[in-house]
Amino acid sequence: MLDLLVFSHESGYGKKATLPCPCGWRGHPTKECVCAPPALARYLSRLSRPLLDRIDLQVEVAALPFERWAAEDGGPEEGSAAVRARVEAARERQRRRFQGEAPAVNADIAARDLRRHCALRGDGIKLLAQAARRFGLSARSLDRILRVARTIADLEDRPDVSAGHLSEAVHYRCLERWQPRESRAAQAVRHGGEAGS
Ligand SMILES: [Zn+2]
Repeated sequence: MLDLLVFSHESGYGKKATLPCPCGWRGHPTKECVCAPPALARYLSRLSRPLLDRIDLQVEVAALPFERWAAEDGGPEEGSAAVRARVEAARERQRRRFQGEAPAVNADIAARDLRRHCALRGDGIKLLAQAARRFGLSARSLDRILRVARTIADLEDRPDVSAGHLSEAVHYRCLERWQPRESRAAQAVRHGGEAGS
């Protein structure tokens, strides 16, 4: 079983989903998944593109190893009070950015305003171009990556979205990173079709 955290801001949807792989052991801390990559890709390709396009975050959650479970404290992780303070500071940065404008948070930035709020440098554009080609990302998916990268930058109190922030945001789209690679022709058809929408 593969545990995932999926989150969609616009549908107010955040939950843990379980996606079994054909052998059932993917994501397990000690058992080994024996599914061949093409078999796994075929399995995951049943998830529809429009569904994936609506999800902001897709994160694989590793099953808890016994040692972690048995340990008395929760490990060196950041306490929830510290996390809350960072999130509130990032929200405050967003409020200042959008003062008087329609979006209240980065997740609500309209596609046409994205480049204004998430200016990209050359290395960032190159990274996104590579990810789009490699994983067959749709235009909507790339927009979501930009909004998430903007939020990661806000959490770090950085004024600009860096290639590192974009890379982390791409990482949070694990279901698309596992999709079978499409032929360039198929991608061209799909992106061409979306350009007018
Ligand atoms: Zn498996």
